[in-house]
Amino acid sequence: MKQIYYPEPFRIKSVEPLKILSRKEREEKIAAANYNVFSLAARDVYIDLLTDSGTGAMSSDQWAGVMVGDESYAGAESYYALQKSAQDIFSLPYIQLVHQGRAAEKVLLPILLEGKKYAIANMHFDTTRAHVELAGARAIDCVVKEALDTASYCDFKGNMDCERLESLIKELGAENVGVVIMTITNNSAGGQPVSVENIRQTRDIAHKHGIKFMIDAARCAENAYFIKQREESYKNSSIKEILHACFEGVDCFTMSAKKDAIVNMGGLIGCRDKALFEAVKQRTISFEGFVTYGGMSGRDIEALARGLQEGIDENYLRYRIGQMEYLAARLDEAEIPYQRPVGGHAVFVDAKKLLPHIPYYRFPAQALAIELYLEAGIRACDIGSFLLGNDPDTGKQLESDFEFTRLAIPRRVYTQSHLDVIADALINIKERAGAIKGYEIVEEPPILRHFTAKLRPVE
Ligand SMILES: *Cc1c(COP(=O)(O)O)cnc(C)c1O
Repeated sequence: MKQIYYPEPFRIKSVEPLKILSRKEREEKIAAANYNVFSLAARDVYIDLLTDSGTGAMSSDQWAGVMVGDESYAGAESYYALQKSAQDIFSLPYIQLVHQGRAAEKVLLPILLEGKKYAIANMHFDTTRAHVELAGARAIDCVVKEALDTASYCDFKGNMDCERLESLIKELGAENVGVVIMTITNNSAGGQPVSVENIRQTRDIAHKHGIKFMIDAARCAENAYFIKQREESYKNSSIKEILHACFEGVDCFTMSAKKDAIVNMGGLIGCRDKALFEAVKQRTISFEGFVTYGGMSGRDIEALARGLQEGIDENYLRYRIGQMEYLAARLDEAEIPYQRPVGGHAVFVDAKKLLPHIPYYRFPAQALAIELYLEAGIRACDIGSFLLGNDPDTGKQLESDFEFTRLAIPRRVYTQSHLDVIADALINIKERAGAIKGYEIVEEPPILRHFTAKLRPVE
């Protein structure tokens, strides 16, 4: 019997036309972009998998909310709608709006890290790490070692290594650690989930040592769906009940609403403690705007209030994770290697295994991203040595543990036929893998080079 993959729990009311360039036109466009996908114009891309952040499609109800958004400076109706929606999901009493995830980090982390030296997380997302460091502290990752093995199956590859956490805290001194952070799902490990059991154990370790415990909640709804599938004691719970279990006893959270709240812009901070919230409000007023709008238009706040609820709908999540599973199953059939099991928001193709003849300093994951564009107009990105960059001391290229080409799937945007195009493109590329060449950098800025570096194929 053929397994049924759950299809879209929506129908399409409004469409956005896509241009399909010829192979020759794509060759010209990518050469003109100096073989850097960030320099391509979006109009020249057929399927854009650069990121799932802020790229989702809003529902008719969210668009209706845009029309009733209240643009009052203080005390707008949309502000109250958002408070109600967020408190319902997170069960924390104090919610602050900000304009995106890194704004939440900019407001909250310096408060938690004042006079401290370290933040410890399962894994810090790039912007979280940057804001920890801007606050004068060091960001330490403490993920379970299963996360590093791309081929082996593990239910919760995103988990904190609690044993190591205990010893790290002892070694660094509890008084020096400002916050323990749990990123759910664990984005940097490939969108891998974290269990309720592990969240609670981590929370208890932090609290035992008098350290604040924070959740980075960008993809907490996708994480809750994985918990329902994989953690026995929650198989009969609703997504909201699981979220309440995840947030129980948590001191604070940040959220980039551009992910699981299915809006194009927005962010949240949640606090349990009134004193912490007062400090958050003061910094929000300085950096983001008055507390009841926090850098957002009323119409966007209304869309966010509604998107938060749509993002926890189980039929939607089944379709969402189902898209990843569908694409992963097609790759399994064709024996194309990727980080297993597939995560919640992207498929991370293992370019090191697919293109073993290209060494790390010739950027196999970047080479695969360029082939995907040439083959079918698909835009993916390198999460490997090209992204990692050079050693700041020696100036030499660093070798990444992984060479991933990330296929991030926007929410409610592409159909199953689009996923077939992606799988078919990878299959064609695999057939001619041996002939694919690596790249070298001809020009690069000193930091965050992957956005603007210029490359050329190596003969
Ligand atoms: C995207 C993201 C952020 C930062 O959010 P922005 O809205 O892009 O500023 C922080 N943490 C995680 C886990 C994310 O995925």
